[in-house]
Amino acid sequence: MDARLLSAAGSHVGRVRASNQDSGYAGTHLFMVADGMGGHAGGDVASSLATQAVTAVADELFDSPETAQHELVNAIIAGSSELSEAVREHPELAGMGTTVSAMVRHGNKMVIAHIGDSRIYLLRDGVLDQITTDHTFVQRLVETGRITADEALVHPRRNVLMRVLGDFENAPIIDSTILDTQPGDRWLLCSDGLCGYVPENTIARIMLEHPDAGEATTALIQAALDRGAPDNVTVVIVGVTETAISAVPKPILVGSASLPLTFSTEPRRTTQRISTRFFQPRSVPVEATETFEADENYLDKVIAEDRKRAIRRRILWAVWVSVPIALLGVLAAYAYQWTQEQFYIGADEDTVVIYQGVQQGIGSIPLSTVHTDTGIRLDSLPDYVRVSVIHTINVADLNEARSVVERIANVAVND
Ligand code: CA
Repeated sequence: MDARLLSAAGSHVGRVRASNQDSGYAGTHLFMVADGMGGHAGGDVASSLATQAVTAVADELFDSPETAQHELVNAIIAGSSELSEAVREHPELAGMGTTVSAMVRHGNKMVIAHIGDSRIYLLRDGVLDQITTDHTFVQRLVETGRITADEALVHPRRNVLMRVLGDFENAPIIDSTILDTQPGDRWLLCSDGLCGYVPENTIARIMLEHPDAGEATTALIQAALDRGAPDNVTVVIVGVTETAISAVPKPILVGSASLPLTFSTEPRRTTQRISTRFFQPRSVPVEATETFEADENYLDKVIAEDRKRAIRRRILWAVWVSVPIALLGVLAAYAYQWTQEQFYIGADEDTVVIYQGVQQGIGSIPLSTVHTDTGIRLDSLPDYVRVSVIHTINVADLNEARSVVERIANVAVND
């Protein structure tokens, strides 16, 4: 048997945060991460309670992937009720919340359940794919075509969550799906402390360099630390083989869920009903403002800001389009002026005329006008002169035109 670890879990407080509000779990067929939020003890409590609720089904043997899916989603919703219950008993925790990204392996199926912006990835044949969709404000902007995926990466509000497991939401909407899995697949569950700071190609490279799940977990966390690790970092790696999914000797619990659950007794402002991370302008450092009050006009502000961005984009677009058009316009004006310094001789119905401009037109628009009608009748001209006039005669300028007209007049037969 392969001595390498197939599955592993690790969590690190990071280089900036005072406490680890992430939790992670790797069992025999259940795996999850939870990223808690809410000041004081709130985030720790939220992710611990959610982890407890979900891991309550860790030892269950489900008779089908569909049953597993049903039970997993129910367990997450039960976690939400636990949060509400905890807030009733400890009002100072109001506004806490947590992400949950969890999966259960059932044979060759992987059952996924997810809410928030933690992520589940699948590494298959060397390619890392994000399986879950972030429930973030920027993801919604991307989906509605208001910004591009590249813009989302640097958007000032990329950390704002639209959906999360919290005490303020009675019926959280959990994304859930059942996917195929096969021997050789490696699944990664992580908090945004990893995927928000370490690029996906780096994550993939590290996983490929470390077939051992324990070593890969350590290396991924180190990669986040190397980038300053401003947030808690949690990593769970799951390897899939023919038989057992996990070589962990016993289930691993990491992060705040691995510590005894303690509730803060510090008084909290009860006006702050919603997690600061959930509804806070990004310009205010999240961790620096325990007393920040959630701004109820926040979404209005965000929408107004978005509108401004759209207007800026439209102005830029207008400049990009109008500058070449203006240049073309200037060129066209010069070209037209040049044509108006040209003359030629031709026929206008039944007389010889001097035209100003050029014979060619733009489509049906002529680029010449009658300058002088000489009054010389075409039928007074010898055939060869008449044909020349009808086919037009080029001249260098108005003077030459006049002298040519004089010669034509000389050959005209006046009756
Ligand atoms: Ca986080």
